[in-house]
Amino acid sequence: MNETTASVNEALPRVLQRIRDAERRYERPLNSVQLLAVSKQQPVSAIRAAYALGQRRFGENYVQEALDKLTRLADLDCEWHFIGPLQSNKSRQVAQHFAWLHTLDRLKLAQRLSDQRGDQPPLNVCLQVNISAESTKAGVAPEALPELAHAVHGLPNLRLRGLMALPAPAAQMQAQRKPFAALRALLLDLQQAGLPCDTLSMGMTADLEAAIAEGATIVRVGTAVFGARAPKG
Ligand SMILES: *Cc1c(COP(=O)(O)O)cnc(C)c1O
Repeated sequence: MNETTASVNEALPRVLQRIRDAERRYERPLNSVQLLAVSKQQPVSAIRAAYALGQRRFGENYVQEALDKLTRLADLDCEWHFIGPLQSNKSRQVAQHFAWLHTLDRLKLAQRLSDQRGDQPPLNVCLQVNISAESTKAGVAPEALPELAHAVHGLPNLRLRGLMALPAPAAQMQAQRKPFAALRALLLDLQQAGLPCDTLSMGMTADLEAAIAEGATIVRVGTAVFGARAPKG
């Protein structure tokens, strides 16, 4: 067993335990929160180690890095989620090779993805929302969300699953919970408007408990599963 495998063997069960503990503490149904293991800038050996423990959902941020990994891991039955910013000129690769996109934030891109999906099952998408104090400019403004959501819902080869956010880091639990609560309220509005959404993609290594307290159904966790990332290059 090499070093990568040994550390994932310890870290992944600990993260799953954190998730189960938070489900219990915040009265969420058992197993209602899924772990998306964020493998960006991590070696394929680390993904194989997580896979050997039963992990199937993996998140990647960079198209070219992800395609290289998909090729090298073609023997595994992974479910690939794209969670990085997506430029229109790379939409085809995501439409053709991924099961999920978490960072959809504009209609033009949605239309391209739908056109490029071909006859595969619909691409699952979350709309990224630029919730208060978001650290990047990515994401649709809350005011513009309902219109975008209805338009995406109408596209034939996309399946609108819910919302995603990447709030600015905050140290305290109460501050962490605020933007997550706001995202949950926006999802409720969409559901009440008749959209069949079921997903809140929110929470990372530092704030997954706060996200679970506010209703996360997918937490995207990298560092706590795989350790520090290699520099991008
Ligand atoms: C890198 C990344 C994560 C994982 O972050 P960690 O702090 O390492 O858990 C989650 N979501 C997105 C969108 C990311 O880019």
